[in-house]
Amino acid sequence: MEGIREFLHEREQAGTLRVLQPVSRKGEGFAYFENRKYIDFSSNDYLCLSSHPRIKKAAQDALGFAGTSSSASRLLGGDSDLHHALEEKIACFKGKESALIFNSGYQANAGIISALYGREDVVFSDRLSHASIIDGIVLSRAKLFRFQHNDAGHLEYLLKSARHRFKNALIVTETVFSMDGGRPPLKDLVDLKESYNCRLMVDEAHATGIFGDNGSGVVEEEGLTENVDLIMGTFSKALGSFGAYVAVSKEIKEYLVNTSRGFIYSTALPPYVISANIASLDIIKEEPFRRKMLLESAEFFRRSLRRRGLEAGGASQIVPLAAGSIRRAVSMALSLQERGYRVLPVRPPTVRPGEERLRFSLTYCHKKEMLERLIDDICEVSNV
Ligand SMILES: *Cc1c(COP(=O)(O)O)cnc(C)c1O
Repeated sequence: MEGIREFLHEREQAGTLRVLQPVSRKGEGFAYFENRKYIDFSSNDYLCLSSHPRIKKAAQDALGFAGTSSSASRLLGGDSDLHHALEEKIACFKGKESALIFNSGYQANAGIISALYGREDVVFSDRLSHASIIDGIVLSRAKLFRFQHNDAGHLEYLLKSARHRFKNALIVTETVFSMDGGRPPLKDLVDLKESYNCRLMVDEAHATGIFGDNGSGVVEEEGLTENVDLIMGTFSKALGSFGAYVAVSKEIKEYLVNTSRGFIYSTALPPYVISANIASLDIIKEEPFRRKMLLESAEFFRRSLRRRGLEAGGASQIVPLAAGSIRRAVSMALSLQERGYRVLPVRPPTVRPGEERLRFSLTYCHKKEMLERLIDDICEVSNV
């Protein structure tokens, strides 16, 4: 096919070619690759649950009695009591009437938005929304408006000028943004969705398990459960497992079961994954010290970097550090890698030119002494 070689060549020249790097083992805050051990700041295993003995045991037990596969989609025989038990637990955790499991966060966003909206509808999405949200909107064929990142004023301007031209409307955002660790003005978005007769959907992929008294997310922390129509999230990040869900009214769940292609046309998650997810929710409830410590570490890390004159951002366990250019982001990441840290540069097209950064994903396993040493190392490599 024409164009492939040129594309790859151009990416390589620009320093933006993406390549796979197999890790031989990871968990508990470390990653091993090419026979070397790194302190891992690129993992979404925020609470270090992927190696939790009780969650592993839950998965092993289910493997023993249910085997390795669900063998069919939910509607065609792949459904199980475990799936229903997990959905009930999620509904309760999120404070909604019901919940529906999806096989991944990508599939959830693509499958939910495309099922609920169509050609006559409109979706207002934060500029930095995850690719799966954008793909869901594209699949739905609804008109897309992107508002400036976390800018309720710009959203209101768009609603005022365009809402009346469409039938149904959705406002969608993340509650913790993966690339800048920031949080949206959720209360303002709720007010706008009410004034302009829209639904509000949030993606809590990076917030679930971490924010709120019960660890259910930012929606819980801000007391807005009643006001958010669709609360989507994943089991693949802080919950240390795999899969996704949406917490919604019974009516929306029933509608999605009947119309969401990402739900209907895909084999149900295997029982051992469901079982791990159930155990993981129990751990979130029983071990709140994990999330408390994580958020304290993140605050400490961010404040220390700023005190040293560095531009550290975010309001969560994700801490971006401004690098200014592709070259500086790459060279700082390489220098830190040489010092034994797994830290990745974030470059265009993921962020806009000029907004290149290093992204530190903190986890419960990163203890204070590790962070203190890292801060010293960052200061040294950022001076070169
Ligand atoms: C990771 C992520 C997803 C996708 O979830 P997967 O379960 O990995 O497919 C969706 N939305 C956001 C905001 C994410 O960060």
